[in-house]
Amino acid sequence: MAPQIKYTKLFIDNEWVDAKSGKTFDTYYPHDGSIIAKVAEGDKADIDLAVAAAKRAFHRNSEWRLYDASKRREILTKFADLVARDASYLAELESYNNGMLLTMANYIVNMSVGAGQYLASLADKYHGDTIPLDGEAFSYTLKQPVGVCGLILPWNGPIPIFINKVVTALAAGCTVVVKPAEQTPLTALYLASLLKEAGIPAGVVNVVPGFGPGAGSSLTHHSDVAKISFTGSREVGMLIQQAAGVNNLKRVTLELGGKSPLVIMNDADLDIAVPTAAAAIFNLSGQVCVAASRLYVQADIYDEFVKRAVEHAKKINVGDPTKSDTTQGPQTDEATLNKILEYIALGKKEGAKLMTGGNRIGKTGYYVEPTVFADVKDDMTIAREEIFGPVQSILKFNTLEEVIDRANNTNYGLAAGIFTKNVNNALQYAKHVEAGNVWINGYLIIGPQAPFGGFKDSGLGRENGKDCIEEYLEVKTVSIALPKKF
Ligand code: ADP
Repeated sequence: MAPQIKYTKLFIDNEWVDAKSGKTFDTYYPHDGSIIAKVAEGDKADIDLAVAAAKRAFHRNSEWRLYDASKRREILTKFADLVARDASYLAELESYNNGMLLTMANYIVNMSVGAGQYLASLADKYHGDTIPLDGEAFSYTLKQPVGVCGLILPWNGPIPIFINKVVTALAAGCTVVVKPAEQTPLTALYLASLLKEAGIPAGVVNVVPGFGPGAGSSLTHHSDVAKISFTGSREVGMLIQQAAGVNNLKRVTLELGGKSPLVIMNDADLDIAVPTAAAAIFNLSGQVCVAASRLYVQADIYDEFVKRAVEHAKKINVGDPTKSDTTQGPQTDEATLNKILEYIALGKKEGAKLMTGGNRIGKTGYYVEPTVFADVKDDMTIAREEIFGPVQSILKFNTLEEVIDRANNTNYGLAAGIFTKNVNNALQYAKHVEAGNVWINGYLIIGPQAPFGGFKDSGLGRENGKDCIEEYLEVKTVSIALPKKF
């Protein structure tokens, strides 16, 4: 049975309100393309109200600013506990609006509870230094929240990314305006209700669903917004960095796309490497920023690997995301589906060998067959651009030196992986590959304790890890004249 939809309005100043324009937009169930609900469509006027509320909540005498850091930790920990309380409902809602497998949504929501608790725990662990300046002076530093933050979310991980960005910003003492992706606004609104229940004062968190060029762009251009944290495509990330410098100088954290290389050496354990490489591209229907979308396999094992990869892909059970035996659900929206089909057509046209898949499944819902291309060459479009779908591209290489240069021959630099039993090869690869995350004999090994982000066009700044709160803090140096003789 479909989960009940409890919130569809904008959340501003702890109240549920209609958009000023009165407009709404439809949000869909990717399994069959049906409309789930009409959601209030925020635009510039609503962003202005939300930013004004966040600015009031950031005033030096506001309830929020007068809380000490331990109180912030307490409230945020309570929020994480409420997410745990409602985990089953949240997972159902996430699966319904995004199309991800319900089993995966349950796993992700539970993981997000842990992440929320970890990030909340950082709230009162930040403090400045005392500095013995040369001469007759003494200095200390204060770490203070940057101000109102705009948090712009993607549709592929609505719950974990909401929790990650909001809890980090709030742990630092900031106030926020969240703009969820237009494809998946529902879980963000429910999470806002849990923040209110946890005791967040009015205006500290505001959630304004809407579209990128409307609500999103208004937020990135707003002169009262001190920082933007964005997760999404490289193209929009570039627009955001430009917008951040138009009316004021916003701090920017960007977590963007990738074209991540996974290298399989001749000595790899194929019983582990084949299913791991498959999960690294087919999980979440390939809609993962770190997806291993360039799979480099060494020459001696190439044919055997391709054979096994194809057998593996053929066993994937595509269908209804709520069924427990389904292993691949639909793409999240129609535009993504069509883009993936275009990339598959380009792969065939440019000479890659289609080994399995390649078609849309059915006419309702946004399903694509798990697809494997062999004999992919570095200059083909499918080896250069982010497809964001269940398309495994397998390339052949001879030496480690060669594959490192080929792996780095891209503007992306989010993640990389290698399978080998040779420690020297693994560590040389880890040292030289240009990526923010490197996984050895595994893939997508992540957690809130470890910094996450990209090299080159894959991002700016880091999320997670014990220092992530620094991204939301300013350092203030206070110096006191201190004569040596008194
Ligand atoms: P994807 O390509 O994965 O759909 P996008 O990068 O287009 O992701 O979108 C991610 C988020 O950025 C969404 O919330 C979207 O509404 C928002 N967005 C899109 N365009 C802009 C823009 N010009 N300014 C600000 N936000 C935008």
